[in-house]
Amino acid sequence: MDLERHDYDVVVVGAGGAGLRAAIAAHEAGARTAVVCKSLLGKAHTVMAEGGIAAAMANLYPEDNWRVHFRDTMRGGKMLNHWRMAQLHAQEAPDRVRELEDWGALFDRTPDGLISQRDFGGHRYARLAHVGDRTGLELIRTLQQRTVALGIDVYMECTVTRLLTDDDGVTGAFGYWRESGRFVAWQAPAVVLATGGIGKSYKVTSNSWEYTGDGHSLAMQAGATLVNMEFVQFHPTGMVWPPSVRGILVTESVRGDGGVLKNSAGNRFMFDYIPDFFRKETAETEAEADRWYEDKKNNRRPPELLPRDEVARAINSEVKAGRGTPHGGVFLDIASRRSAEYIRKRLPSMYHQFKELAEVDITAEAMEVGPTCHYVMGGVEVDPDTEAARVPGLFAAGEVAGGMHGSNRLGGNSLSDLLVFGRRAGAAAAEHARGRHGFELPDEALADAARAALAPFDREGGENPYTVQHDLQQTMHDLVGIIRTAPEMEQALERIAALKERVANLSVEGHRQYNPGWHLALDLPHMLVVSECIARAALERQESRGGHTRDDFPATDSEWARTNLICTRAPDGSVALTRQPLPQMPSDLAQIFEETS
Ligand code: FAD
Repeated sequence: MDLERHDYDVVVVGAGGAGLRAAIAAHEAGARTAVVCKSLLGKAHTVMAEGGIAAAMANLYPEDNWRVHFRDTMRGGKMLNHWRMAQLHAQEAPDRVRELEDWGALFDRTPDGLISQRDFGGHRYARLAHVGDRTGLELIRTLQQRTVALGIDVYMECTVTRLLTDDDGVTGAFGYWRESGRFVAWQAPAVVLATGGIGKSYKVTSNSWEYTGDGHSLAMQAGATLVNMEFVQFHPTGMVWPPSVRGILVTESVRGDGGVLKNSAGNRFMFDYIPDFFRKETAETEAEADRWYEDKKNNRRPPELLPRDEVARAINSEVKAGRGTPHGGVFLDIASRRSAEYIRKRLPSMYHQFKELAEVDITAEAMEVGPTCHYVMGGVEVDPDTEAARVPGLFAAGEVAGGMHGSNRLGGNSLSDLLVFGRRAGAAAAEHARGRHGFELPDEALADAARAALAPFDREGGENPYTVQHDLQQTMHDLVGIIRTAPEMEQALERIAALKERVANLSVEGHRQYNPGWHLALDLPHMLVVSECIARAALERQESRGGHTRDDFPATDSEWARTNLICTRAPDGSVALTRQPLPQMPSDLAQIFEETS
């Protein structure tokens, strides 16, 4: 077989923030480390992150600290987060930001010269360290530079199609070069998955082409479990017009910097949607909200900065009630509230994005926005301290890992999650790999992986991958979207079962050299597994919570507050669900909710 082979201690799949931070940590712990990524180095999805990195550095508000950040994160996730992950995240995020600065990241500054921090939904204090609205670019630039400087091997434009395992756990990974189509295998006793999210299973999404849920599916195939898969975050503000750009993100920073949401009658409708949970902290009149912008310390937060699930549902309701914009969104107005100079300085990417893609000048007119599939809270179930999955030698960090964000992620908490848990995963993977050498990848396993990858070339007249992808995205959009019902999700599962049969009959034309149809044919099984996990778990959870809203079970149910849904791979390849009690939060942490309520 035409196969390139490599030998490492730790292989990191994914070169976003989580993958690069993991690789740096593994290398620093003495492991021979490689990073594999589908796109070019520096092009991972993290580069698109706009608003900032959440960390309780207390640069603007001395009263901010990890305990408040922990509380905000848990409340944003509607208490379903793994308490230990939320604790480690809140405690370690400030150090991870300062470390980035030490490595050369240039953050925006306060007038006193400290790292500036901006407001985001669900955070009690302004705590997002940022670089204009291009924070992800700076984060990736810094980590990438360090990765290269340390001499870590990077395999770019290379896709992993299978994890290799034996009875003792992980033995490596198998994949192909996207350009040549040639196969490559990495022998390694530890693999860190850092493959990001799943947005491409949906029709309208802020996610890039890479987000096909590969890591979620590869982990399950290897015997790991997924948790919280029913929770998908629909960001409240994606572009809605023109159709070619539908779904592209309009950063929350627009609202954090003063933008307000209005319906077609010109009303700031968010005042009508403040949940009891947040009533004490949220302004209930326009005058009160305006005072907050002037004097943030003493007043209550504007309702536009409620957690994302609340805002997305409110927009959905306004549009359904016939109070939407001409193109089915609502208005986001910063032009009437901030000077043109302020907008261009604070939100340069947004200014250009709307100018170039929609011919809208956001310094002079309102934007049209609506919900877009943005982030998956669900992912590989991991040990909070080491990010180890249930398969020995397998680790996961970043968006592919579950537990940290519970039922809903707060803005800014992903970039900090990547740094905190990427570092922990890399260090633990290096530790696991120590002394585990001298095994050989069996030829039969490699030949089997190659056969599976080439199968679409062997079929003639089968299904076209692009048609199947379109049908899947439409199914998830129509039937497992922002508002869900049992009959619709049952229908979705029937369609997914039919799509699985069609995927087993995919055929592609041409040859192995740069063949996007073949690449999609290999991504589609992952997208289907992930979609099935989401639909099954969403059908099972008979309540509404965070990123999961049931029209037929609109209330939040305290019984479900104690239960996680776990997805595993059944012997026939389908998705099996089990219920698992949430870990008990220690009393000193539980105390925080009483102190600050
Ligand atoms: P990614 O950065 O997506 O990296 C995934 C990597 O895995 C890529 O290198 C990819 O090539 C690789 N990969 C995937 N599958 C394979 C495979 N099979 N084989 C090999 N490689 C593979 N969060 C915040 O906290 N703050 C923000 O301001 C913010 N803004 C955002 C703006 C936008 C437009 C979007 C879409 C998201 C934003 N987020 C933000 C969320 C955040 O950016 C992501 O959750 C985060 O970047 C995910 O990082 P990651 O390292 O887990 O994965």
